Amino acid sequence: MTTTSATPQLGESLGTDFFSVREQFTDEQWTRFRTARRFVDQEVLPTAPGYWERAELPWPLINRLPELGIVGEDIEGYGCSAMSPTACGLVHMELHRGDGSLGTFLGVHAGLGMQSIAMCGSEEQKQRWLPDMAALRKLGAFALTEPDHGSDSIALETTARRDGDHWVIDGHKRWIGNGSLADVVVVWARNTETGEINGFVVEKGEDGYPAGYEPTVIEHKGSLRAVWQADIRLDGVRVPDDNRLARARSFADTARVLATTRGACAWMALGHATGAYDAALRYATERIQFGKPLTSFQIVQQRLVTMLAELTGMQLYCMQIGRLADAGRLSPTVAGLAKMNNTTKARALIAEARDLMGGNGILLDNHVMRHMADIEAIHTFEGTETMQTLIVGRDITGISAFSGTSR
Ligand SMILES: Cc1cc2nc3c(=O)[nH]c(=O)nc-3n(C[C@H](O)[C@H](O)[C@H](O)COP(=O)(O)OP(=O)(O)OC[C@H]3O[C@@H](n4cnc5c(N)ncnc54)[C@H](O)[C@@H]3O)c2cc1C
Repeated sequence: MTTTSATPQLGESLGTDFFSVREQFTDEQWTRFRTARRFVDQEVLPTAPGYWERAELPWPLINRLPELGIVGEDIEGYGCSAMSPTACGLVHMELHRGDGSLGTFLGVHAGLGMQSIAMCGSEEQKQRWLPDMAALRKLGAFALTEPDHGSDSIALETTARRDGDHWVIDGHKRWIGNGSLADVVVVWARNTETGEINGFVVEKGEDGYPAGYEPTVIEHKGSLRAVWQADIRLDGVRVPDDNRLARARSFADTARVLATTRGACAWMALGHATGAYDAALRYATERIQFGKPLTSFQIVQQRLVTMLAELTGMQLYCMQIGRLADAGRLSPTVAGLAKMNNTTKARALIAEARDLMGGNGILLDNHVMRHMADIEAIHTFEGTETMQTLIVGRDITGISAFSGTSR
């Protein structure tokens, strides 16, 4: 391996599985896992650094997702992939091992956009949107966050006012993945009649977005550069009543969707950490300093073993939340602990991997720098580490430290 330029092998999976976690996979999980792994090693890794550097959406890779049968999470019917929750996690893990931007694209489109419709839509609404979304003929987005309400999105200020057989939406959204491209944008807004949060689908038609929907791509990001988020102005956007998600009655329904993607974030973090660990181990094996491979030094071995211990713990976390989700028993709190643990551990592990690769660790072609930058966004979105900590803290103490009052 040359250590001064890109090496095709670096970044490819080493199959790290010290505790033989994979022996527990079902046939279905193996099939999904292998499909995603092969795709990542053969197609994603060779091109991802370039898309990231150019902040360009990887359309050839995105277009492969429906061909691989991995769009639609665990949604059954409507042309969706109908994966088991553990298989969904494995797919998220592998995509993020290759490229966080591609993984986030799918997470937003399917995990948030499609799941909102599947969980909160009427049968007619599911029939109307999900088949096209499963085939990526229509792209999805999920617009919850606002400039003034991120962690406290429950206090969102965007409003939806009834006007005959339409709703009129006014407000401002921020950080909305695919918000400038999506055909089906689920916008969460406060119903002015009830004060409750409801979900509304803003559709892009042949003539573009409805009047008043004005997205601006957020530029100059240093994380997940190959997937785009938008700042969106909503100024009197008219949406037919048919587009109000029938079963999104309050923020509790929004939270049901977010609870499923919180677990996915734990798998995503594991993917980034795995990519970084495998690259660092391979690099340290082949890099010669003081006449010997780096791996022959005790301190390097200790660092690699510490990384492996953390990675193995993350794998066990993921397998258990997968099992609970497969049994329909994954609580938002348990998913929150897994997200908190795995993104925190992944951040530290990836920084170690970067350091073990010396100067070559900062080169995009060697992948680890991209993981280091991308994990920052995963750490923040869908509830920061601190928010997950407060959610779990409330669960074990009975005291909400968000507001300081007992629940
Ligand atoms: C790349 C990216 C993609 C995203 N995609 C989407 C998307 O598709 N759709 C969408 O709706 N949103 C999206 N988001 C928004 C994301 O969910 C928010 O960024 C996140 O919830 C945090 O909100 P914030 O950025 O406003 O940070 P803030 O809420 O302002 O938090 C700033 C800091 O303060 C801390 N903090 C906040 N409140 C407390 C408290 N009570 N106690 C202690 N500490 C606290 C936080 O933990 C954090 O460290 C995306 C964000 C990013 C970066």
